[in-house]
Amino acid sequence: MSQDANYWNKTPLSELSQQEWEMLCDGCGKCCLHKLQDEDTEEVFYTRVACHLLDVKSGRCGDYRERFNRVPDCMDVGKMTPDQMKWLPASCAYRLRSENKELPLWHPLISGHVSSVRKDPRGIRGKVVSESEVDLDALEDYIVRWIDA
Ligand code: SF4
Repeated sequence: MSQDANYWNKTPLSELSQQEWEMLCDGCGKCCLHKLQDEDTEEVFYTRVACHLLDVKSGRCGDYRERFNRVPDCMDVGKMTPDQMKWLPASCAYRLRSENKELPLWHPLISGHVSSVRKDPRGIRGKVVSESEVDLDALEDYIVRWIDA
């Protein structure tokens, strides 16, 4: 694997190895939040309600290996079309690279530090609630505007 930070900004998603693909995820956890879409404008609204598998303290999936078996509508980022990628936050490395944009300086693959994400105010850790604790018919009450989402 290349150690050149620019490698990530030059290599198309389709040419990444499985390991390289997994490393692109910064662990922000925003893809694990419920979203609503305006039927007329198609604008996507994020909520602070998370999938029941998300560990809301760490911001990590509680069963990453089995997530598709346990949550049938879990988004498989690897199979998303460019249009579906718009459901991901603007800061998501997969979305950025699918739009041929560079990774931000705080991304661990560029900064070299996982902590650069954990310390980032964009994170959701400690700011979300599990779907098991809310009435999903009242999702509109939980709409929030995340930084970079
Ligand atoms: S939104 Fe993107 S970077 Fe954030 S956890 Fe999901 S796949 Fe990873």
